[in-house]
Amino acid sequence: MAYVISDECISCGACEAGCPVNAISQGDGKFVIDADLCTECGACADACPVGAPAQE
Ligand code: SF4
Ligand code: SF4
Repeated sequence: MAYVISDECISCGACEAGCPVNAISQGDGKFVIDADLCTECGACADACPVGAPAQE
């Protein structure tokens, strides 16, 4: 399952910079992950200060 960013996201941008396949972009009020691009590497979860990205 692809990673999904929860509403805990504070839009810091750390995950976007660290995603190796550029699957993360800024959405409305939080960042969002394109499930078709995500390879489930987990880098976004490791980079996030508030634990927002998680696998569903
Ligand atoms: Fe990108 Fe990896 Fe996070 Fe998927 S799990 S959005 S590929 S950093
Ligand atoms: Fe949001 Fe976490 Fe990504 Fe920062 S690293 S933009 S808080 S999901």
